[in-house]
Amino acid sequence: MNKKESNKAVLPSIPELLAPAGNFEKMVTAIHYGADAVYMGGKQFSLRAKAGNFSDEKMMEAVEYAHDLGVKVYITINILAHNRDFAGLDGYLFQLQKAGVDGLIISDPGILRRARKCVPEIPVHLSTQANVTNAQAAQFWFEQGISRLNLARELSLDEIMEVRGATSGELEIFVHGALCISYSGRCMLSNYMTGRDANQGACAHPCRYSYKLIEEKRPGEYFPVEEDERGTYIFNSKDLCLLDGLPELVASGANSLKIEGRMKSIFYVGGVTRIYRAALDYLRDLPADAWENPANIVLPSIFSEEIVKTGTRGISENFFRKAPGSSEMLYNAPRVQMKVEPVAVVRRAGLRPLVEARNVLETGDKVEYMLPGIKCDPCTVVRMETEKGEELTRANPGNRIVLHTEPALQRVSLNGILRRNIKG
Ligand code: SF4
Repeated sequence: MNKKESNKAVLPSIPELLAPAGNFEKMVTAIHYGADAVYMGGKQFSLRAKAGNFSDEKMMEAVEYAHDLGVKVYITINILAHNRDFAGLDGYLFQLQKAGVDGLIISDPGILRRARKCVPEIPVHLSTQANVTNAQAAQFWFEQGISRLNLARELSLDEIMEVRGATSGELEIFVHGALCISYSGRCMLSNYMTGRDANQGACAHPCRYSYKLIEEKRPGEYFPVEEDERGTYIFNSKDLCLLDGLPELVASGANSLKIEGRMKSIFYVGGVTRIYRAALDYLRDLPADAWENPANIVLPSIFSEEIVKTGTRGISENFFRKAPGSSEMLYNAPRVQMKVEPVAVVRRAGLRPLVEARNVLETGDKVEYMLPGIKCDPCTVVRMETEKGEELTRANPGNRIVLHTEPALQRVSLNGILRRNIKG
């Protein structure tokens, strides 16, 4: 055994990278950019009711596609269920068994009970909605027959490690995505204000709205709450990003790292998955002695430069190192101004790829192709043609065009994404 091999023998295991799949295209994109597993919802019983989600037929197709590429598929059945919600549940569970899914993401003990009775061979993952915040609760849930639990987002690294030390079941940790101001998503704000229940998958995101102040004896008089001239967004939490903590999380023995965002765009899903994949691959290649103190491992700066290009509300480590304070909120806008935007998705690879435009694209535009990994290939669009060979100087969203670039893109592959800096 050479030195490298002997070093590799003591490296920590690299956890699974679990990405959101709000629809078939998002799943394909997540897999293209390196997800080991994806999670998705069916048409019923799943939070994120507006995510599109998968019909029974589409789910069969999705599982087949993912499995052909060695990727696992987990299905969310994570509503907080009322009695009426159980109608049709058993049939749905049998349908998922037929589709060959790899896990069920559940938060309600009643749904867990039906799943254990109907399809006991399908592993159950406890959803973050179950709010597991301590080792005793983790042990309780493992005793109920679950095989994995997603810890509450309100835990510090030390608490995660304490739970790890007390249990042997699989632990899944959210590493990236939107945060709620409420406790692990248990929030009535949307239900109260819009009638849309966040715990039934229909959140209208009122925490992102702009609010004003009213004094009780002056009805109708709205006092601005101002951070700057745009007002303030008092409930608007920044997004979770644990890229900097990734070495410590890997060393902690976490089994799966989860990206939030079934309702986000393919640009977000592909962009974030790509960066975490590249970061995990970077950590996998470190020598064993680097792991003597994981807190000293620093990812190259390109990782943080790339993550802010995926579009966020600013980033926060949430509770990972200390309790969050006022700097973890984005007070002056619903989100930060994006610097980069998607322009097209590759539909046929080649030196002159066929792409589907996602934004207006013009001859002369400077774009870059997002490679799997952390790098991008820059180029200029020098000619665009329809599939029939007619020249275009401008393509609109949805148009399929053959792209000529300078230099020619050598490493384009199906389902890859082209992006550009936003002008101005
Ligand atoms: S309103 Fe905001 S805090 Fe409440 S569940 Fe929806 S996203 Fe979370």
